Amino acid sequence: DQNILEVDNLHVSFKTRNGAVPAVRGVSFTLKKGETLAIVGESGSGKSVTAKSIMQLLPKQNTVIPDGAIRYEGKDMLKFSKKEIQAVRGSDISMVFQDPMTSLNPTMKIGKQIMEGLSRHTALTKKQARQRAKEMLELVGIPNPESRLDAYPHQFSGGMRQRVVIAIALACNPKILIADEPTTALDVTIQAQILRLMRNLQEKMDTGIILITHDLGVVANMADRVAVMYAGEVVEQGTLDEIFYRPQHPYTLGLLRSMPNLDASRAEPLIPIPGSPPDPSALGTGCPFAARCPYTMKVCHDYNPGAIAMSETQAVRCWLHDERTPAGHVPAEIKE
Ligand code: SF4
Ligand code: MG
Repeated sequence: DQNILEVDNLHVSFKTRNGAVPAVRGVSFTLKKGETLAIVGESGSGKSVTAKSIMQLLPKQNTVIPDGAIRYEGKDMLKFSKKEIQAVRGSDISMVFQDPMTSLNPTMKIGKQIMEGLSRHTALTKKQARQRAKEMLELVGIPNPESRLDAYPHQFSGGMRQRVVIAIALACNPKILIADEPTTALDVTIQAQILRLMRNLQEKMDTGIILITHDLGVVANMADRVAVMYAGEVVEQGTLDEIFYRPQHPYTLGLLRSMPNLDASRAEPLIPIPGSPPDPSALGTGCPFAARCPYTMKVCHDYNPGAIAMSETQAVRCWLHDERTPAGHVPAEIKE
């Protein structure tokens, strides 16, 4: 069980008139074959920027990556040439976005759009590519695939369109699928179908999935492991059980309390986290959650905590877990 992807201390900033503004700050995580890592957090927490830097989809002229590595099968993709990146993108690593229309060409038949990637990345003949396109439509559950090959995107419903996008993304058998809010635009029933589809395809193809979402219900359904992002940092990561049942970061606790209960029989009131994330251009030296955290101590304002290992799989960035913090400061819900 080797890592197919290792994101190591990734920093991403955007150039603005007022200098570089950090969007991703020292993010590290790994992904193994066939597993699903969910990246959760509010909008602006750096989830999508992280995903796009893996695929090198951020605009070159205003993006700076001052530090870090993104290793795919051991090789740092940040050092890849444009050609090497293009060879990986869409074949070894694919991406699915929230809005299927952003990835589909409205003026091109669906079959042709699936075949495009195949002809770019495989040695299939046109006839074989068309056959494969048909099989992919069948695999993602599109009825009458043969005749649908010649339909245009607008002839599909939103849910069917997202199935087509998944068919395109998986046509070349990628080792990694990055899905950024893939079901957010869809209604609940369709959402459940698409998630089930992704799980089935993952099982068949052993794809590693990075699932970006703000929806903890989706996480509970899909993830093996979870990374929680806040203000450009992974503030906590762990297995699904660790994050849901033994959360150690006050932000993770807040997120869980602000979500509708998965077990509907236990209707607890939702408690939203008061306040809003910090302005990324005005981050101080302290913990970025200090202004919203119910447990803030003096040290939190002055120094940003580093990652502390809670188990072999769980790590958290919070001073409450530093052995130098007096026991009296550590609240009951955080103490184990
Ligand atoms: Fe809260 Fe301090 Fe922990 Fe930050 S380091 S989450 S402010 S207790
Ligand atoms: Mg986003």
